[in-house]
Amino acid sequence: MQATLTFLGSGTSMGVPTLGCTCAVCHDAYQPNSPNRRTRPSILLAYNGHNVLIDTGQDFHAQAVRERLTSVDAVLYTHGHADHVLGMDDLRPLSFHLPEGLPLFADDATATILERIFEYTFRKVDRYPTSARVTIHRTPTEAGTEIPLFGATFERIPVTHGRNTIAGYRFGNAAYLTDMSDIPAESLPLLQDLDILILDALRREPHPSHSHLEKSIALVHQIAPKRAFFTHISHDLDHNTINAELPPHIRLAHDGLKLEFDIA
Ligand SMILES: [Zn+2]
Ligand SMILES: [Zn+2]
Ligand SMILES: [Zn+2]
Repeated sequence: MQATLTFLGSGTSMGVPTLGCTCAVCHDAYQPNSPNRRTRPSILLAYNGHNVLIDTGQDFHAQAVRERLTSVDAVLYTHGHADHVLGMDDLRPLSFHLPEGLPLFADDATATILERIFEYTFRKVDRYPTSARVTIHRTPTEAGTEIPLFGATFERIPVTHGRNTIAGYRFGNAAYLTDMSDIPAESLPLLQDLDILILDALRREPHPSHSHLEKSIALVHQIAPKRAFFTHISHDLDHNTINAELPPHIRLAHDGLKLEFDIA
């Protein structure tokens, strides 16, 4: 089954341009069509007549407007950091018509954060009639845990994110591992025979909770997908400069980039 993956956002938590920064990449990112303009990280998967999101960051509304996204059928969350969850409230108008609620898939730690931030959405009494109609499905954290959705299967790929272990996802021939400083050994067997591998590559210098360029390139060589794309990118990496340095099968993602692949 054919699927289209769209990078809704390819930037790090602060976005690019980074507010207050005057570096050359941020300066360029003020141009509306610059590939250096990076909103907060999220992807959209369209297949079988359905739209599935991985994460909803602060920029979700603007991303949905840009992509003319008019319906969402499910959201899978990677973890509870602001740049991955704060757009949840913007699902409201896309959820009103769903009697069962729009399904959100999150592990216990992430679900607890969602319920804390959006307490008014999840409370059972005194609900606002216009709160998001969403239902959290708490997912186990074991490697390879499967979430079947609309004819495809999303497999949990645990990744190290600083001191935490959070969710990456594999779906068919593609995998999305945002916010990752390392890939635990137990996850590597789940990443075989990939057409598309998407990895965190924050900047050139090492960082305690995000993989950096050199490390992500080494991981691509180790895992050996057909193609790899880097995301969660800071203002440290100029799009055209870095793409000229990378081997042809590895590219920096950019906002709005679309990829076709087999999801099932
Ligand atoms: Zn992040
Ligand atoms: Zn900058
Ligand atoms: Zn994070």
